Amino acid sequence: MMPFPKINLHIHSIYSDGKNSIRDIVEKALNLGLNYICITDHFTNSWKANVIPNLNTKAKIEKYITELSDLQQELIDYGGQLTLLKGIEIDISSSYDYITKMIVPENFDIILFEYLENVEGIGFVKNILLNWEQRYGKNYDECLIGLAHFDPSFFEYSSLGTLISFLKRYDIYFEFNSSYPDFYSQRYKFFFKELKTNDILVSIGCDSHDLSTLANFDEPLQRIQIYDLELNFARFIKKLEKRNH
Ligand SMILES: [Zn+2]
Repeated sequence: MMPFPKINLHIHSIYSDGKNSIRDIVEKALNLGLNYICITDHFTNSWKANVIPNLNTKAKIEKYITELSDLQQELIDYGGQLTLLKGIEIDISSSYDYITKMIVPENFDIILFEYLENVEGIGFVKNILLNWEQRYGKNYDECLIGLAHFDPSFFEYSSLGTLISFLKRYDIYFEFNSSYPDFYSQRYKFFFKELKTNDILVSIGCDSHDLSTLANFDEPLQRIQIYDLELNFARFIKKLEKRNH
């Protein structure tokens, strides 16, 4: 088995529905010996916006990015093993105008899209990426784009080809999320085979809402090994390391 860094790239803080401050998360991650963490607080203007706290104003997003950048720099100065990444989790039931008005992709290291469940969703995300490409050009390429806790059952019987070519074209990564073990069951073997055949990037996130789940990356890593996706994961890690230098 290849030695992989300890990563958890899906964590919520008090900027949305997480229980801890970003600083608390960083300190715990240092204690746990993690190598990469990404804070990915919620962004939405769907019905969910009224139910959970989220990054709902430009001022709040700015404060969030500043706090993350400051801590990122602190960790660099400290010179330890932990890298902090700036992320955001976009609910794709939000409106196109709201997303493109509020989000500047180059401010983030990682952008997760959640609730991609059909071909219409693919079209929606494509349009956002197109908008970003046109407005931000090369800078936007630096950003890693992923699908949060994607459920393969939605694409089980049709449209799998459309999904795979979409992921391939935009180099979008698939997240193994320790909070949703059912999505990685053997019944989706065909799906993971497609990821392998098409060299789709894969990564790990724990959807942590408190400190107790910060280091839950073992099970997702096992799934990656079971489905023989270690090279896909290694390519993701390489991209992660590259954008750090
Ligand atoms: Zn999440």
